Amino acid sequence: MKVVKINKKEYEVINAVENPFTKFGKFRATRERHGLKVQRCCFNCGHKFKDDEDIYLAMFKGTLNHFLCKSCNNMALADLKKGGRHE
Ligand SMILES: [Zn+2]
Repeated sequence: MKVVKINKKEYEVINAVENPFTKFGKFRATRERHGLKVQRCCFNCGHKFKDDEDIYLAMFKGTLNHFLCKSCNNMALADLKKGGRHE
């Protein structure tokens, strides 16, 4: 018998910005040059970033900063605006 448990975790976005961090390809090339790990997918929806795509850095409560795709970043921004936390 095999038992598979998947832990569900929630992360709250505490800050998001309108402007992209950089293009994914540029970010990837720099990180790879230094032998560093690269976050290749959107932290929220799992969308795989393309090299010419803008990535957005968001700050999460209780974990490190992660990248979001444009549409998830827009959702995060809208949410933060609603909550009155966006500056
Ligand atoms: Zn996304």
